[in-house]
Amino acid sequence: MKQISMLDLRREYEYMKDDIEVAIRKCLDHQQWIMGPEVKELEGKIAEYLGVKYCIGVASGTDALVISLRALAIKLKGEEYFSKEDEIVTTPFTFTATGDAILRAGATPVFVDIDPRTFNLDAIAAEEYLRRYGKKVAGIIPVHLYGQACALDKIMETANSHHLFVIEDVAQALGGMWKDKKLGSIGAAGCFSFFPSKNLGGFGDGGMIATNDEEIASLSRMLRVHGGKDKYNVEHVGYKSRLDTLQAAILLAKYKYLDEFNTRRREIAKVYNNELKGIEEIVLPEEQPSACHVYHQYTIRVKNGKREKLKQFLQEKGISSMVYYPLPLNKMKVFQGRCRIHGDLSETEKAAEEVLSLPVEPLLAHEDVAAIAQAIKDFFKKDK
Ligand SMILES: *Cc1c(COP(=O)(O)O)cnc(C)c1O
Repeated sequence: MKQISMLDLRREYEYMKDDIEVAIRKCLDHQQWIMGPEVKELEGKIAEYLGVKYCIGVASGTDALVISLRALAIKLKGEEYFSKEDEIVTTPFTFTATGDAILRAGATPVFVDIDPRTFNLDAIAAEEYLRRYGKKVAGIIPVHLYGQACALDKIMETANSHHLFVIEDVAQALGGMWKDKKLGSIGAAGCFSFFPSKNLGGFGDGGMIATNDEEIASLSRMLRVHGGKDKYNVEHVGYKSRLDTLQAAILLAKYKYLDEFNTRRREIAKVYNNELKGIEEIVLPEEQPSACHVYHQYTIRVKNGKREKLKQFLQEKGISSMVYYPLPLNKMKVFQGRCRIHGDLSETEKAAEEVLSLPVEPLLAHEDVAAIAQAIKDFFKKDK
């Protein structure tokens, strides 16, 4: 039986093999493994692509979040870390790293419920929390989940009126837009991940901080190399978190395909939307008019407790699907006693029970997309 996986990195490699091998060979020739020329080149390319002044390559998306938060603690408070009294508002419906970074920067995450239409932080609920407890809050981290923008106008307006910073978690949304702006270029900083499965993925870990703020840029550059401009006389509690030259070279080779691949993701999403729209028991992803969704994931909701059965049915037909995320952050052990919760988070809980992500990788064959859609239709027909 033919297997359709969520992601076939081997196929992607075959597609751009020559570009990647030339890029790696260049590194083998120059042997500048740490902060080699490719790191700067990639930082320049992504900065231009996003329309920001500075990009700083780091070792992962998680480190991008930790380092930009630390830079803000130094800039705004003159302290190395935030304190537990400093709260940072974010969504509980995200990958662990978002909340984990807040803890590692010394602050307390405040989990606010999501908007059921987008799975993203509910800007109205966030504002409600801020109206009541705004004095304790230092910033907001909206996550552009699955590749779709949060309601950034509202979030920026709320943040500005309470004098808060915004760090965008753009790990899943490189290339996505809010109106005419690239995601990651709107908040004080945008944090990207080059984890292999992301829309632009390396052959290992990697990340990037984007910002227009010179001080955040300069502090982030220090923090990624021990914490100083001079590594033999260091000022801050830093990390060793550089983007590898080799990863930067591979990412530069793959970067050429980013827009083409994001367009293909959108096309696949459109096929799914057309094929699946008549099925009552599923809810299709809803693209917001102000957002250009880049479908890091194509995620449906399966109603009436049928998700696991559908997942199983697809598996029996050789089709993979995934649940992102089965457990909201507020339910994880690590956040117990270390977070605050606003409201009952009922939409988050519901989403965690209903979501199912289908294969949407750019090189997925047309007939595979058709087969997946057909299998889902068969499931609901048989089920009736
Ligand atoms: C992948 C991801 C991260 C972390 O990136 P890494 O490169 O894996 O450290 C952070 N936030 C979100 C939403 C992610 O999907």
